[in-house]
Amino acid sequence: MSQSTTSEFLFGRSSSTSACPKSKEEGEKMQTMEEVFHMNKGVGETSYAMNSDVQDNIISVGKEATKKRIVQALCSSNNWPVSMAIADLGCSSGPNALRVISEITDAIYATSRLLDRPAPELMVHLNDLFGNDFNTIFASLPSFYKKMKQQNNTNNNHNNKNNNNNGSNCFVCGVPGSFYGRLFPSNSIHFVHSSSSLHWLSQVPGDILEGRALNKGKLYISKSSPQSVLNAYSMQFKKDFLNFMEIRSQEMVAGGCMVLSFLGRNSLDPAEPHACYQWELLAQVLMAMVSEGLVEEEKVDSFDAPYYAPCMEEIKWVLQKEGSFILESCEAYEIDWDGGVEFHSDSFKVLSCGERVSRTIRAVVESMLESHFGSHIMDELFLRYSELVEHHLSNNRTKYINLVLSLVKKGW
Ligand code: SAH
Repeated sequence: MSQSTTSEFLFGRSSSTSACPKSKEEGEKMQTMEEVFHMNKGVGETSYAMNSDVQDNIISVGKEATKKRIVQALCSSNNWPVSMAIADLGCSSGPNALRVISEITDAIYATSRLLDRPAPELMVHLNDLFGNDFNTIFASLPSFYKKMKQQNNTNNNHNNKNNNNNGSNCFVCGVPGSFYGRLFPSNSIHFVHSSSSLHWLSQVPGDILEGRALNKGKLYISKSSPQSVLNAYSMQFKKDFLNFMEIRSQEMVAGGCMVLSFLGRNSLDPAEPHACYQWELLAQVLMAMVSEGLVEEEKVDSFDAPYYAPCMEEIKWVLQKEGSFILESCEAYEIDWDGGVEFHSDSFKVLSCGERVSRTIRAVVESMLESHFGSHIMDELFLRYSELVEHHLSNNRTKYINLVLSLVKKGW
């Protein structure tokens, strides 16, 4: 498969709107974002599992909203539920995937104990794209079930007397597929959680090619981007998020709850540094490599990130248009680029702040950059990126802005 055909389709050319395969052969070569994009697999030095402290911090800031929604979901149902279906959308792999599930199940068990009711049996659906490393999650399930079983025994859970299941009354399964499509039967899900995932679009915005000549040397929205590029990104986000909400509305029971946590912005300006500077610095590194003949300029010009950090106005517009969810709360949090930890060391090496940021970003975007630029430049690219980030953060206080939305489906 030629790399350029695949990557242009993925990260430079629109998929569903304007990309019409010229020939059968070309059509067969095409792959979508959902087939290629994945976090770095396994548990090695560049894996997502080992480099997801930032996303772990993001889960922490959403924890209270998650607990509150769980209590509400249980207390507002007319009949105490015998079983509940829970979905984590964009679960990835590594410790965060099961941490989220532990927190949700802890909240359910605590509420059941408080109200002296039998804890519902839980069906937990872990969703991510097809290339996700589900195997690493599945391999950690035995210790997860063991921990749950111990907790249940300690708490003398009503439901667990027979002990003929996995011991935890909690059944975990993997659901591969895009959350921009249907994943579950109608009216079947009680609680949806998603963290650090909804800022990924279903595709590069369809109209962006029009602005290509004016967005040269950039990977995403930047101060120099023309209005047409800004509009194309905003429209793609609204289209995707509307689709996401409509589909969840079909899949969720009335009164079901959702906690959605993803990168966004406080300002109306999508080119403000907190919303886009991680891409700006990556573009600067690539353009420096262009000037040294290490990367083709055309490759940089033809890459656009399928990413968008929305503002609350855009989100509220979609929620109002879709209409079946009540927005109970929305909070914005500043998140450090480097996970905010003092040290993160492996092989007894203490990493600089720039190195930590670079590893975090690499674990997330390497699959898409590799498919476009080739794997041979990855080490050099992320080494230079760590140095540039280190320099940038020594003079600036750039943060991510993370939005946490708490929603309830109408109609109970
Ligand atoms: N929730 C985890 C992972 C966040 S990384 C955590 O908090 O650590 C973002 C994840 O979203 C990735 O695993 C990516 O594959 C997934 N993702 C992105 N777009 C998706 C889509 N359309 N459908 C399902 N998963 C998606």
